[in-house]
Amino acid sequence: MSPSFAGPDSGSALVLTSSDAQLPAWFETVAAEAWNAALEYTNGTPLSVGQQRMVVEVPATYEAFKTAMGVSDDGLRSQAALTWVTTTPVTDNWVEVSAPRVVVNPLWSDALQPQDREAALLVLTHEAVHVATGVRPSAEGRLWVAEGVAEYVALTVDAPALAASEQLVASLCSAELRLPSDEDFRTSELAYDLSALLVKLALETDDYTTLKLWWDGAGTPQVTLAPLFTAWCES
Ligand SMILES: [Zn+2]
Repeated sequence: MSPSFAGPDSGSALVLTSSDAQLPAWFETVAAEAWNAALEYTNGTPLSVGQQRMVVEVPATYEAFKTAMGVSDDGLRSQAALTWVTTTPVTDNWVEVSAPRVVVNPLWSDALQPQDREAALLVLTHEAVHVATGVRPSAEGRLWVAEGVAEYVALTVDAPALAASEQLVASLCSAELRLPSDEDFRTSELAYDLSALLVKLALETDDYTTLKLWWDGAGTPQVTLAPLFTAWCES
């Protein structure tokens, strides 16, 4: 692994690659942009964990990626990147938890073309928000809050993607929309679009007050979400 810093004015994003990784020339700059976007939205808010640097690791091969993720099957094959912590048992009742880091799937990064810069920025910003807000287990059924914040901030860096995402949700306004379950994030891209919109609406309503309650597992979102959605669909 040969560490290299991303950009002179963005020493806070560190991309770790092996010498044979085929990263586009703009990859480190995009990682720095992603980290800055994540900090812009989370610094000084109740969601921030005060992490000052994002580490992005690009394993040399897909096999190395699987090893890093501790999986032997192909369940993560189509994942572009993941934000990850490692836990190391120190004693019977003490576990050391590493700082979160982003691990990139080389199947994704090796295939990046010059025109994929925006798409890469979206992926890395999503993961950067997970780093900035901490990788902590969400309350059961609340994965949508963490994923919604990550996806919403990511979409703000890509106006056409944001518009497409909202259009997708709007096309479902007449249907019975329900809160995405934790399981939905494994099977449905729509879960991300829906969560991003919910987070946006919550932020527009009262900044981070409602959002923090949802994140912590307090409150009853089923009750408060319906009016938000109804108003949005009618507007
Ligand atoms: Zn995510």
